Amino acid sequence: MIRKQDILARAAEWGLRADIVEKDYALGWLLAAIARHPETARSWVFKGGTCLKKCFIETYRFSEDLDFSLRYWGSSYGPALESIRFAGANRLLVEFEYNQKHRVVEPYSLRRSRAGNVLLYAWELTAGHIKAFDLGKSSNLRVASNRFQPRYAVQLGVGSAAVIPPVVRRPNELSMLSNRKGPAYAYECLLCRRRFPHKKRDSALRRHNDEQGARCSSRRGRFVETLY
Ligand SMILES: [Zn+2]
Repeated sequence: MIRKQDILARAAEWGLRADIVEKDYALGWLLAAIARHPETARSWVFKGGTCLKKCFIETYRFSEDLDFSLRYWGSSYGPALESIRFAGANRLLVEFEYNQKHRVVEPYSLRRSRAGNVLLYAWELTAGHIKAFDLGKSSNLRVASNRFQPRYAVQLGVGSAAVIPPVVRRPNELSMLSNRKGPAYAYECLLCRRRFPHKKRDSALRRHNDEQGARCSSRRGRFVETLY
């Protein structure tokens, strides 16, 4: 901690008011704390005039304010995330509009896509399987009053959007996504259960071997999930 006489001495040396030196000192501590906390260090990006001056201008001595951007998404996700986590903790269904359709789902997990979007992995009741919903494309999300019996572990986590873990992708899925702008689709062989990424929604599989390297006789897959 700096003493009052040190602040007064710097103010005299630099020809500034003491309160300006003190404010700059306090903002410096704030910056250090933001840089040290794992959550803010990952998601808050220092920007603006004070950032430019503090980082690049050696003789710069005082700051007016500190500006930050959230790295992954706007704060508009906050209420939706809170609702989803509340629903998960209380085993309640979640409802929302998505691609012009009303959806009722059992929420299971949240993941961040490579592009930084938040994906909700949920069992859609009418579809009868797990789907990944891009939360940015959902609207009117709310907690329903009906409870559900979990089919899988509910892993919705706590904390802000910044702590949502990334999706896990297989190497062949990553290589297909890296060459594309839009999403791809994962299909699982009905017989050997091997997964294949497809550019289009097409359940036909090419001739392939199973994970152990033996020839598989199936040419038909089951749609598993959209890959982002
Ligand atoms: Zn197969």
